[in-house]
Amino acid sequence: MAFYVLQLLMLPGMYIYWSIALEVFDKTLCLPIYYARTKIMGETMEIGFIGIGQMGRHMSQRLLDAGYDLAVNDLRKEAAQHLLEKGAKWMDTPKSVAESCQFVLSSLPGPPEVEELVYGPSGLMAGWKKGDIYVDMSTNSPVTIRRVAVDAKSKGVEVLDAPVSGGTQGAKSGTLTIIVGGNAHSLQRVHKVLEPIGNKIFHVGDVGCGNIAKLVNNIIYAGCNAITAEGLVLGVKAGVDVNKLWKVITVSSGNNWCLEYQYPRTVFQNNFEPGFRINLALKDIGLALALGKEYGVPQPVATAVEQKFLDAKAAGLGDMAAPALILRLEEITGTQVRVQNL
Ligand code: NAD
Repeated sequence: MAFYVLQLLMLPGMYIYWSIALEVFDKTLCLPIYYARTKIMGETMEIGFIGIGQMGRHMSQRLLDAGYDLAVNDLRKEAAQHLLEKGAKWMDTPKSVAESCQFVLSSLPGPPEVEELVYGPSGLMAGWKKGDIYVDMSTNSPVTIRRVAVDAKSKGVEVLDAPVSGGTQGAKSGTLTIIVGGNAHSLQRVHKVLEPIGNKIFHVGDVGCGNIAKLVNNIIYAGCNAITAEGLVLGVKAGVDVNKLWKVITVSSGNNWCLEYQYPRTVFQNNFEPGFRINLALKDIGLALALGKEYGVPQPVATAVEQKFLDAKAAGLGDMAAPALILRLEEITGTQVRVQNL
């Protein structure tokens, strides 16, 4: 009799153990099943998104369209208006975003803003819970994000740096390249959330490596941008039609992404609407040069490219798209690189 009473008393305890074991198994080992189940049972995950700017507005919109519940924050509430109208929840502070979401994504200008977001009086640090994951998609300093990762770890929170490439067009169409640094298991946990944002997701190493790879990309991009401007202004000034120059070079050894894809949408159409702004490019060149100093890698070309961008900023072009770099050269040479029909 005593044996049966004991068994009866143990039943609730065993049930709790089983529930915990199943939940852990479900969420860690069977993530795909977990996500499918949340959809089938009508539950949705709430994702936090902070930084509703040129990039973030499209990235967050795509998460909403994919069916996620979204909690959003920005310094400017009006930036999130279109998301709030479609059901996103406004949060007054990053702390409250962290409190209500297990996964928080951010897309901010750079290191000072990310530091404020994490360490500010109502920052993420104040709201994080054990098991959370923070994915910073800003182009950031590897040093800054590594420091954030160490401090987050003390609260049981994992950090991934996941800067993106592909511009506002890529953000709108969900075709961004996402370059991830950090723990592979954490990436596996958030992979589904990143999929509506980018269709090329790379894991490149430990936390910080995402930004190292991104800064290498951006310094090469900035150099191509500057030399493409010089080359085309020279060609046009010396008497060759820009349309013909473009057709020849895009199938020759001077071809690059800037010339092939960006110039036809920007310089050729005299369209310098802010996308990836000169000021943001300058921030990235500065971060790449700092990385070179840290590792003892001379960068004379990147230094010259930085001067070109500084010159454009000084001329008041800082808030224009990066290809606006060409405007200075066009002005002093009395040349215009425009194409009516490519
Ligand atoms: P943006 O300046 O348009 O947007 C940044 C947003 O962050 C703004 O809405 C701003 O109000 C908000 N913000 C700033 N500090 C904040 C804080 N402490 N808390 C909450 N919100 C804050 O910048 P963007 O062009 O969207 O770029 C975002 C990031 O993506 C940058 O790191 C940039 O280098 C990178 N990036 C941009 C492009 C592009 O084409 N624009 C392409 C690739 C990568």
